[in-house]
Amino acid sequence: MKPPSYTWVCHKCNAANPPGRSTCESCGFQAMATGKQIQAEKATQEKYIHRIPLFSGSDILLFFPEIIPAAFIAVCSPIWIIELLIERHFLSALVLSFGVGLSGIAFYSGVRSKGKFLAYLGVSGMLLTAFLVYK
Ligand SMILES: [Zn+2]
Repeated sequence: MKPPSYTWVCHKCNAANPPGRSTCESCGFQAMATGKQIQAEKATQEKYIHRIPLFSGSDILLFFPEIIPAAFIAVCSPIWIIELLIERHFLSALVLSFGVGLSGIAFYSGVRSKGKFLAYLGVSGMLLTAFLVYK
């Protein structure tokens, strides 16, 4: 494809490029892109944006140290539930599965929506559940 004979603006990063260049100086995207290519590029960019770290460093500190036992509870809970069922502690097993499940959902949706308090609620829910079951 022939490079543009005019100064052009990159479809992807909006950088201005001099005439005669067929790819963007700053990001390498083609000067002549079809609508489909541009859309595909934008879609990948958006996906990338959604994957950037969800919380800032100071936000993450909010979850410490509680998140450590909470993560431990989340990982171990299936084994504990099985143990409780074997020992016929059905109510405890039920409380544990619901508590961990709901807390997990709260934490996950909190992280997804950057709602740190919802996420924190999930963390404390894990701890509270374990406390209720094993007190
Ligand atoms: Zn560019």
